Amino acid sequence: MLPCVYLVVPCYNEEEVLPETLRQLTAKLDALHGRGLVAKSSRILPVDDGSRDGTWAIIAAAAAQNPWLSGLKLSRNCGHQNALLAGLMFAKERCDCAISLDADLQDDVAAIDAFLEAFAAGHEVVYGVRSSRASDSILKRGTAQGFYRLMRLLGADTVYNHADYRLMSRRALAALGEYHEVNLFLRGVVPLVGFSATTVEYERHERFAGESKYPLKKMIAFALEGITSFSVKPLQLILALGLAVSALSVAGLLYALISKLAGNAVQGWTATMFSIWLLGGIQLICISVVGSYVGKIYQEVKARPKYLIEKSIDET
Ligand code: UDP
Ligand code: MG
Repeated sequence: MLPCVYLVVPCYNEEEVLPETLRQLTAKLDALHGRGLVAKSSRILPVDDGSRDGTWAIIAAAAAQNPWLSGLKLSRNCGHQNALLAGLMFAKERCDCAISLDADLQDDVAAIDAFLEAFAAGHEVVYGVRSSRASDSILKRGTAQGFYRLMRLLGADTVYNHADYRLMSRRALAALGEYHEVNLFLRGVVPLVGFSATTVEYERHERFAGESKYPLKKMIAFALEGITSFSVKPLQLILALGLAVSALSVAGLLYALISKLAGNAVQGWTATMFSIWLLGGIQLICISVVGSYVGKIYQEVKARPKYLIEKSIDET
């Protein structure tokens, strides 16, 4: 049986590039179908993330003529990650595997062949990993690499240099649907899903047309989102800080006492110094205790599945 493949493409104000993207993806599906690699039921699924330009008009017009084309339109701009999830969840009951890729053709369409080969070989998740960051600005390259390192340091398992160009099998998609957290950071959640995974390298191109929808402000918000939805380490750092300040306060106390005994402290200074430092330290420790409980609540409300079954032997 040929696999039914869904190509999920989040689009936000992409009218400049979308016609070309749809043309290339259509050509890709034609070619793959011609070579007997994908089923006729495969689809390109652009997800219009509340665009203000002609994006939806382009999708609707193209879908009327192009049998490969479906389309989803979100009620408003929900952000890249949510648009992607909407597309994947729509695809999950309809496909054998879904490949997510950006609308701006930065993700090399040619790599789809390698994705499908890995899928045919039995992998349930295939990560597209960029072979170089030559097409990025120095700022973007530096911040992105710093981000991956920081995430690793904080204990979240992300795939290095992998954005959201990836293939997921129907089963991996169903598992992803079990993650009910509101603050969804797909790059962190997909590795948690597990199953057999592999990577495919690809060359990341320049944006074909239009401008990046991720200005620095959004990128920082995205990075913070990633960290705070995956790690309670920042809470633990408060404890370390509190302990350090408390220890310092002891040194400060000694200093203040010596100054007083030596007679070069004004009235009331010793007690003031002491209370500021010691109380500051104690307060930080107390906040960290509260924080550790908040951290637990935070883990609980996310209600992540504690396990996902890969196989079972169940012959009755
Ligand atoms: N995107 C989206 N919603 C948004 C912002 C971006 O669906 O609120 C889409 C956008 O259309 C593109 C992908 O997410 O297909 C990646 O965005 P972009 O190329 O602007 O980011 P960059 O490659 O510059 O990081
Ligand atoms: Mg882009």
